[in-house]
Amino acid sequence: SAGAHIIDGKAFAAGLRERIKVAVPAFVTQAGRAPGLAVVLVGEDPASQVYVASKHKATLAAGMESFEHRLPADTLQEDLIALVQQLNADETVDGILVQLPLPKHLDEKAVVMAIDPNKDVDGLHVINAGRLANGEEALTPCTPLGSLMLLKDTLGDLSGLDAVVVGRSILVGKPMAQLLLGENCTVTMAHSRTRNLPDVVRRADIVVAAVGRAEMVKGDWLKDGAVVIDVGINRLDPEPGKDRGRLVGDVATAEALDHVRAITPVPGGVGPMTIAVLLRNTLVAASARAGLAKPG
Ligand code: NDP
Repeated sequence: SAGAHIIDGKAFAAGLRERIKVAVPAFVTQAGRAPGLAVVLVGEDPASQVYVASKHKATLAAGMESFEHRLPADTLQEDLIALVQQLNADETVDGILVQLPLPKHLDEKAVVMAIDPNKDVDGLHVINAGRLANGEEALTPCTPLGSLMLLKDTLGDLSGLDAVVVGRSILVGKPMAQLLLGENCTVTMAHSRTRNLPDVVRRADIVVAAVGRAEMVKGDWLKDGAVVIDVGINRLDPEPGKDRGRLVGDVATAEALDHVRAITPVPGGVGPMTIAVLLRNTLVAASARAGLAKPG
């Protein structure tokens, strides 16, 4: 449709960050301290360094304490686990995030499992995945939770809608499907072995693409009036004379605009939501730990 709506994730995320910033002083008054987020970065992965720096900045801007722990690339598993245990025991730390991916010699799963589930603001611990699957209160992965917020803001009640999630990672696809199920959608999870993916996607009122393949979902895969959340972040090869290629999502956005009711752009859609939800999860974890009501 000519009137396709571009979902402004940047603006929504700014609003969410503002609401958190306003809620933090109330926490400080009641708890006698600011919420604290500890971020652990191992090694020098350039993308991870950028993410950790922007998380640090956003945490401080929200009025929270930010504890950064930068460890060398050759850090031993036992030393990393010991740091996580020290952060678990630290009363001033409400959220612990170990920036992934870790260098290859480290066991990511074991490190995530060492985090106190009540401080697991990335929502990756099996206890939180299990709580989410059981429909219980859980710390939920930031990217899918941010995606759900955008969907509810766009559509209101999601009850009864057909949702297709393309991708089944622990970080994005699986928790996204659980969240949509929790909103009473009829959920289909598609992945690399799905047969006839275009036809599966064509059934959907809601499409969440979390694959990591540039512009894989074509315009004519989309039902007229569908709402599309494009989680993918893919950098194209640079055009001649340029040193960096364009960022695109997993959806062919220009084509999609002829079909959809609304779609998130890349960049400026889901991406900005991830850090805003991390701050929200930190405030939620802090409130629970302090025995205070869950922030709105
Ligand atoms: P993973 O690589 O962990 O998972 C990709 C999923 O896509 C897998 O389940 C895989 O299926 C599926 N897949 C791969 N190829 C196909 C195909 N041809 N058809 C259908 N499904 C396919 O990626 P993530 O979930 O971690 O991330 C997905 C994307 O989202 C990436 O581009 C990433 O950069 C981006 N991302 C963005 C974030 C943000 O803040 N906006 C945060 C996190 C991720 P199978 O399981 O069968 O292998």
